[in-house]
Amino acid sequence: MPKSNAQQRALIVGAGIAGLTSAWWLERAGWDVSVVEKAPSFRAGGYMIDFFGPGHEVARRMGLLPALEARRAPISSVTSVDSSGRRRAEISAAAYEAVADGVISLLRGDLASVIRDDLRASISYGTTVSAVFDDGRVTFPDGSSDEFDLVVGADGVHSRVRELVFGPSPSFVRYLGHHTAAFSVRDAELSARIGHRYQMLTVPHRMIGCYAVRDGAMAALMLYRSASPELPADPAAALRERFGDLGWVAPALLSVVPKDVYYDEVSQVDMPVWHRGKIVLVGDACGAVSLFAGHGASLAMTGACVLAEELTAGAEGAFERYQGRMKPAVEHTQEFGRRFIGWMAPSSAWRITLRDMVLRLSGLPVVRKLIRGSVAPDVDGVLTPA
Ligand SMILES: Cc1cc2nc3c(=O)[nH]c(=O)nc-3n(C[C@H](O)[C@H](O)[C@H](O)COP(=O)(O)OP(=O)(O)OC[C@H]3O[C@@H](n4cnc5c(N)ncnc54)[C@H](O)[C@@H]3O)c2cc1C
Repeated sequence: MPKSNAQQRALIVGAGIAGLTSAWWLERAGWDVSVVEKAPSFRAGGYMIDFFGPGHEVARRMGLLPALEARRAPISSVTSVDSSGRRRAEISAAAYEAVADGVISLLRGDLASVIRDDLRASISYGTTVSAVFDDGRVTFPDGSSDEFDLVVGADGVHSRVRELVFGPSPSFVRYLGHHTAAFSVRDAELSARIGHRYQMLTVPHRMIGCYAVRDGAMAALMLYRSASPELPADPAAALRERFGDLGWVAPALLSVVPKDVYYDEVSQVDMPVWHRGKIVLVGDACGAVSLFAGHGASLAMTGACVLAEELTAGAEGAFERYQGRMKPAVEHTQEFGRRFIGWMAPSSAWRITLRDMVLRLSGLPVVRKLIRGSVAPDVDGVLTPA
């Protein structure tokens, strides 16, 4: 349990959305914050996220909305295409915004950079922790050690802090039966061909989505069903094998998959307790909801804000209050995400047809209401009124 006096020291492990937001709120609450990040440098680009819900409100409270708006991807519609690229169904951006209030579509790296640029704490890249003890003692890979009043594990779905403090991960990770890959590349020709529409090609158990971002860059997402969570040694080869038979832009995309492509199993993290001693987890590390739920970044920012609020309200019981406020919202979103699998990666041709029919009818208020229930879990009430 952290003690309450001035200039307490916090170590944040992971400079992703949850870690950066935790650093932002904790340093403003008077903590002396250090951040360690495994990646050798800041990770720009990445995949496109739809950012809305409580995280949007947290970003507003941080004063970051104008900077996020400036990085908004100019997507005009969401279009389902067939394997020759012909349009099957479409929902306009206006209709999408009507179902997903205030949504900002932007690259994960852009969201992270906006938060990072507003931080005072310096980030140590290319390092991590090798041992973490409940009392706040930490050992680093170079053999040095230090002691903190608070250690925040914000190191994502495969959290090392979680493993070091709570034991091996398998019991906490729920595999959702799919692998995913995402990348952004600069390819003016492909980018022009796609345009500022989110276009997706869906065949049973497989989906490719892509969209032009800006300045000749484009982002792509691939998703496919796999019985095993085990990751392939060569992700680009696995993608060629899985998607090589598809038409449309699939061959062009497969020829530009970068070496550092984001590739992972799709899973959720579900654990009964998110803290031990002076150690607490935030974001995907304790409550990954998966890309099917689509609210992970929003919840990561919300969790970071709620944690700082509760620590400021009083050290005693802060972690319990933080978990008590966040966990119901995370579980609700996880359940929603599991239901959304059939919408994002339908298992049969008729399910794809049904989904596209709903997209085509999205102009009707009753259908919008239906879509709203499908894209936006209700997690109001997690944040205290501003
Ligand atoms: C394809 C895809 C699409 C998505 N779409 C959406 C969406 O539309 N809307 C939305 O809200 N969310 C979406 N998400 C989810 C969202 O990106 C995550 O939930 C969110 O990024 C979680 O933030 P985080 O900080 O907990 O984890 P991450 O963003 O994964 O950050 C973890 C950080 O910790 C670092 N790290 C890992 N291990 C260590 C270690 N041992 N030591 C030090 N550092 C370490 C990593 O390098 C990384 O920088 C999507 C996710 C994917 C994969």
